[in-house]
Amino acid sequence: MQQTGLFAEAEIGGAPLPVVGQQKDINYYGAVAHSVLNGPETTGMGFWSVNPYVGCAFGCAYCYARYTHRWVLDRHARANPQNESLQTALKTMQPWLAFERRIFVKQNAADALRKVLRHGSDKHLALLNGDSIVIGTATDPYQPAERRFRVTRSVLEVLADHPGLSVVIISKSPLITRDVDVLKRIARHSSLSIHISLISTDRELARRIEPRAPTPEARLRALGRLRANDIWAGVNIMPVLPGITDGQQQLDTLVRSIAEQGAMYVNTCALRLRSSARQRYLPFIEREFPHLARRYQATYAFDHQVSEDYSAKLRARVRELCERYGVSYGRDRSVGPNEKAREIELVEQLELGFN
Ligand code: SF4
Repeated sequence: MQQTGLFAEAEIGGAPLPVVGQQKDINYYGAVAHSVLNGPETTGMGFWSVNPYVGCAFGCAYCYARYTHRWVLDRHARANPQNESLQTALKTMQPWLAFERRIFVKQNAADALRKVLRHGSDKHLALLNGDSIVIGTATDPYQPAERRFRVTRSVLEVLADHPGLSVVIISKSPLITRDVDVLKRIARHSSLSIHISLISTDRELARRIEPRAPTPEARLRALGRLRANDIWAGVNIMPVLPGITDGQQQLDTLVRSIAEQGAMYVNTCALRLRSSARQRYLPFIEREFPHLARRYQATYAFDHQVSEDYSAKLRARVRELCERYGVSYGRDRSVGPNEKAREIELVEQLELGFN
């Protein structure tokens, strides 16, 4: 697990507003972000990141990002002892559940971004130099909150006013197609690529693993709509779950479905289980897939990742399917050598666990 989220969320300050919204069992809190643009020195990566929300309602069993939320909840609860909702969440909710049900909304994200990207500023110049801005490294920028709060859209509006950038968005949600107009405006003057995350076409299986995420069909339709609008978009089959989503027939159906929607690329990586994801995922396997529990314990007992042999076979399998269905394996944009190198480096970094 990289330290990205922790340091990134340190940028949040000030007292949270009271609950700014409720949706079934989810509470949303307003948060004041001093800065929303986290540079390579804080991400520890070769790119900049923006995460409009802290916490994510999609609740994927393998999510690695939960630990960042605990830190933010704890800090706000201590700063606001009178806020009963926060106190209750801190005292009574399991941290993994609070990540999904108590979500902080960086309502001022666009204003904060506009300030740091004022034309000619150091950050603006660095980004013009080719560094990518990745939106959604720690939480999904198009989770249900976005339908109401529109923070991601407001961030994109700012980016659309700044030509010459390299913008990457990672999401599981078809809500991204709501913003096709602003995405097209960005693509007109900057490099824009969309990563849709999808690990299976099996609706029931996906529901067990990613209980509140959009269905696979909805994600595939979103991919098709992005491509129909000539927006550069592909699919990250990440993380592939050993013994659950790595079957030949499963991957065949998945890659064929992705290719049918005109994806620009497919990329893949097997599950990596760093400590925070392990605490949630291994009990989930014991409960939902008990026949795999021992195998998982053995595989991830001494390392956070599968063997190189497994990884190589997985890559070979997906590459072969990509060739069969006519979609690029890995990112292969028609760009200059420097930009291409940066794109490849970015995907390798995303494979380290940044969903
Ligand atoms: S969509 Fe991404 S950030 Fe949200 S729960 Fe799933 S893995 Fe975590």
